[in-house]
Amino acid sequence: MNNKTNYQYLLSDLNSLKGVGLKTKNLLKKKNINNLFDLLWKLPKSYTDRSFSSKIKDLKIGEVQTVTIIPQKYNFPRMRNLPNRVSCKDETGEIDCIFFNSYEGYVKKILPLGKEITVSGKIGHFRNRYQLTNPKYVSEDSSIIQQIHNKYSLTEGISEKLYNKIIEQIIKNLPILTEWHSKNILNKFGNISWNNSIKELHKAENIGKYKNNFYQRLAFDEIFSTFLVNSEIRKKIRKVKKKRKIINIKIQNSFINKLSFSLTSDQIKSLKEINKDLNSSNKMFRLLQGDVGSGKTIVALIAALNTIISGFQVTFMAPTEILARQHYNLAKKIFPKSVNIELISGKSEYKKKKEILNNLENNNINIIFGTHAVFQKKVMFNKLGLIIIDEQHKFGVNQRKKLSDKGGTDCDVLLMTATPIPRTLTMTIYGDMDISIIREKPKNRKPIKTYSKLESKIEDVLKFITKEIGLGNQIFWVCPLIDESKKLDHSSVTEKFQYLKKHYPNQVGLLHGKTNTDEKEKILNNFLKKKFQILVSTTIIEVGIDFPNANVIIIENANKFGLSQLHQLRGRVGRGDTDSTCILMFKSNLSDNAKKRINILKETNDGFLISEEDMKIRGFGDVLGFKQSGIKNFKLADPIHNSDLFLLAEKEMRRIENSNEDIGKFKPLIKLYDRADIINDIA
Ligand code: ADP
Ligand code: MG
Repeated sequence: MNNKTNYQYLLSDLNSLKGVGLKTKNLLKKKNINNLFDLLWKLPKSYTDRSFSSKIKDLKIGEVQTVTIIPQKYNFPRMRNLPNRVSCKDETGEIDCIFFNSYEGYVKKILPLGKEITVSGKIGHFRNRYQLTNPKYVSEDSSIIQQIHNKYSLTEGISEKLYNKIIEQIIKNLPILTEWHSKNILNKFGNISWNNSIKELHKAENIGKYKNNFYQRLAFDEIFSTFLVNSEIRKKIRKVKKKRKIINIKIQNSFINKLSFSLTSDQIKSLKEINKDLNSSNKMFRLLQGDVGSGKTIVALIAALNTIISGFQVTFMAPTEILARQHYNLAKKIFPKSVNIELISGKSEYKKKKEILNNLENNNINIIFGTHAVFQKKVMFNKLGLIIIDEQHKFGVNQRKKLSDKGGTDCDVLLMTATPIPRTLTMTIYGDMDISIIREKPKNRKPIKTYSKLESKIEDVLKFITKEIGLGNQIFWVCPLIDESKKLDHSSVTEKFQYLKKHYPNQVGLLHGKTNTDEKEKILNNFLKKKFQILVSTTIIEVGIDFPNANVIIIENANKFGLSQLHQLRGRVGRGDTDSTCILMFKSNLSDNAKKRINILKETNDGFLISEEDMKIRGFGDVLGFKQSGIKNFKLADPIHNSDLFLLAEKEMRRIENSNEDIGKFKPLIKLYDRADIINDIA
């Protein structure tokens, strides 16, 4: 396959390369390199310049040199362990080529007597003679040797020479692809084609030239392809037809008026966007994104009520039972009596469960709360119109795609996440959904006072806690796992629990990764009911749960956490209208850099801003564990250094969406760069 304009060449099997047999293929596969395209992103790290040749008399010992010589005499000792030797010369001197563990036939073949041969390698010296040991670069054609040979970070078992040979082949046969970008975009990158960009990318002298047009263009291609695929998924989901929900604004508003607070303008705006989707005849696939405590639940519940009033059922899924129960209790409290509300729990008795399932199927239940249990096959709805999923930020694109297919026709999907992410990543991570954002917090919120404290000053902290407990408040005490990779190491929490118990007998609870689910629920419920005042835990206290009486959080060894994670943890308190405090504890004095970071937390409570700072410090994969969620890793693009490219890609994608431009011309781009299976039916 060597059609010069066909991108498929790049998707061909590694076997199609000269010099790649089964062994090399398997070695590459281990590195997740499955076709020629994958190899293109294996970039030279440095290079060896073999382009200058010298005469034997000018050779520099200990350096890599290239020299053209004439083999004179073979010396093949009969003794094992002694190397084969070939004496060679040029008009200025003599040099020996030494071969350990080699066959005579091989040596004779590469160094035939009397012929001019170019060799290259590190020059040695032995008994006053120059020598070259096991030369790897040997050829009658000096131009093959006299080049710049790129060094790659080598995959074990594959030689540098082979790598160079492989990459050269691909570059030589690189198909000339029809340009997919608009003139305007191309112009921003000095009109360099994809083909030429790849060539530049692999030139040794271009190592590290991230700002050059070729690099920027290729980074842009990568970002843009992701956005385009996301946009296609979104379009596809939106195309699914469904029965419209008729929103009764009068009922909705009288419900809102009865709430004990008024909605923030971001809540109102988000609700409007959701209502518009519910009311449309296209399926909704929307993400409600808002910082911890920004009030997403009530927005989701109002949307649920609107759906119910319009004659449909709703299912509301939370990541834990306790959170599901909290949402359920809230709905019980504020929904009109005419709405039938249920909770399906792992602990429900068989009989009770069966009754619930029956009632769901017969449309006697309007809304059901639960964990992922609500998605089991045996749970059948009569007229499911809306799926709400709380705290789903750890789902990847593919999981979400499956979700959107659930519930069948007529069913809208609303996802919620309390994980603010940097602006540049929104399209990358959530681009397959429509997004509503709640940025502003409810007005009565007081900022969480954030302090840092040395561990040696723990007595001060205890004094403070004692005072707060006296006021009837509760405290979270968070210890990081000593070794994140060993999730079982709980010595620090257990020790702290013992320590605090001495100071506050009968007032301390303990929670860690080993605590089983039932026990955990019991402990959290007891904490909610104020049966004890201090909860010591690892970071497993779930997001989302409302502990109205907890207003202090102590975070030990705070430098173990990223800024976003600290912000999330801190968000466990400060949901009510009492003053709340977060104390970050450190083992030793902070470096200036660490102080700067912590100051960001002290100065702002804006999770979006904090996530930006966090990404600058830790790189994007680490921000809140997105690495685990299977999100795409870019090959060249970098969300921090290329933020302009991300914004440009978003703008271009919107332009294409709005102008309804045919995306057929992007087929090679998408097929090469992305999850091609998702967009199989692109023309
Ligand atoms: P999250 O967005 O993190 O899920 P919640 O929905 O749990 O936040 O809301 C946190 C708290 O804020 C709840 O106690 C809720 O009743 C309250 N709340 C929500 N909206 C408002 C508002 N507009 N004004 C005052 N309090 C609000
Ligand atoms: Mg929540």
